[in-house]
Amino acid sequence: MVSVKYQNIGCAYDDFVVVEGFDLEIPHGTITTLLGPSGCGKTTVLRALAGFVEPFEGNVFLGDKDITVLPPQNRNTAMIFQNYALWPHLTIFKNVEYGLKLRESDEQAVLETPWYSRFFWVTKPYFWIKGIFNRILTFLAKLKIPIKSKEKSNTYLEKKAEIDKKFDYRRKKVIDVLKLVHLEDQADKLPTQLSGGQQQRIALCRAIVVEPDVLLCDEPLSNLDAKLRREIRTEIRTIIKKIGMTTVYVTHDQEEALAISDRIAILHEGIIQQYGTPTEVFSDPQTLFVAQFIGSSSTLIGKVINKNEAELESGEIVKYSIKENIPTGTKVSLVVRPENILLTSKTESPIEYQINTIEYLGTEVKMTGTLKDGTIMLVDVLENAEEYARMNVGDNITGYIIPEEVFVFIDGKRVY
Ligand code: ATP
Repeated sequence: MVSVKYQNIGCAYDDFVVVEGFDLEIPHGTITTLLGPSGCGKTTVLRALAGFVEPFEGNVFLGDKDITVLPPQNRNTAMIFQNYALWPHLTIFKNVEYGLKLRESDEQAVLETPWYSRFFWVTKPYFWIKGIFNRILTFLAKLKIPIKSKEKSNTYLEKKAEIDKKFDYRRKKVIDVLKLVHLEDQADKLPTQLSGGQQQRIALCRAIVVEPDVLLCDEPLSNLDAKLRREIRTEIRTIIKKIGMTTVYVTHDQEEALAISDRIAILHEGIIQQYGTPTEVFSDPQTLFVAQFIGSSSTLIGKVINKNEAELESGEIVKYSIKENIPTGTKVSLVVRPENILLTSKTESPIEYQINTIEYLGTEVKMTGTLKDGTIMLVDVLENAEEYARMNVGDNITGYIIPEEVFVFIDGKRVY
């Protein structure tokens, strides 16, 4: 397990700067999500870690190692994509085995590269001849003709045993990861014979089988339907936590980010707005953007008239509860979660709205309404849901906003 560190990086496509002065430390063994709206730069930041985008400034570290300019194949990372990227002509087993085989040949190339290979232009003809000679030997071995050799025997069976040793090792690893996603019995099928969810599980297997230092996930669940997305994100989290792999996950789906992550970095126009645990970003948003982006909410605009009181344009008073004294007349944005609006007229600061939509969901009623000043409000009714479900679109209703649950912002920054 290794940590990841972005230190003051800047990335651009030609003249178009996507991120600049970007800092982020990702602790080892965590699932960290880069969350933000489309185009905010999350994929670019992920690609800088994979080596597909080279920062024009700053450094990227994997553990203590500076990998800023290291080619992708020399970084021990693996990536899962939105479109699975499985080989359609290879079986599930071979798809998962593929990465292992590739790394094996890389390792072998390093191990087997002799010192004299540096003078390859001199030795090249020798290796051509040796290669042709080896092919002839292998062909003869297949015909089961024993070959005498001074150094080592090259019979077909011996060659097969040598290959099988590696194959056995690979087979064990592949079956082990397939077992993690309960798809070991599908190993002989082609990707097209599996569902989208199963294919994405295979893509996960293919990435983790090579035991990367960091697993990179680029919107891996976007192609799946909502129900399957919920199922698979739980499964992915369970598996990643089980093997304890450092994971950087990119999504624009805030619900997915809350469910899957240990930590979330919320990006807006290439800038991190907040970095924290899912509970921190949800219950303690530090900027207006975060409060509006994470979870459902309504934003009311008002002017401060007293300590902890603001007046909306419609003349209604909204109470909040913060320590700081905001000067009278200051414009504030008040963000309220739908579950923090209670439907009662017995209050000192009632707020009235007209129902636009109403949905009965069994244990709760979800409403949207319009305040007198035109603001759209989201309201979740958790108590006496059946009673409110009988109301009609166009009805007027009075509510009360719990003051302790109102987030207050001045110029987009939270005031406490
Ligand atoms: P999405 O969720 O839509 O994938 P994102 O947050 O991952 O968005 P990026 O893909 O990092 O955003 O793109 C950030 C910005 O860089 C966007 O404005 C995009 O248009 C631009 N961009 C991305 N790739 C390239 C490219 N190869 N060449 C030029 N501009 C690009």
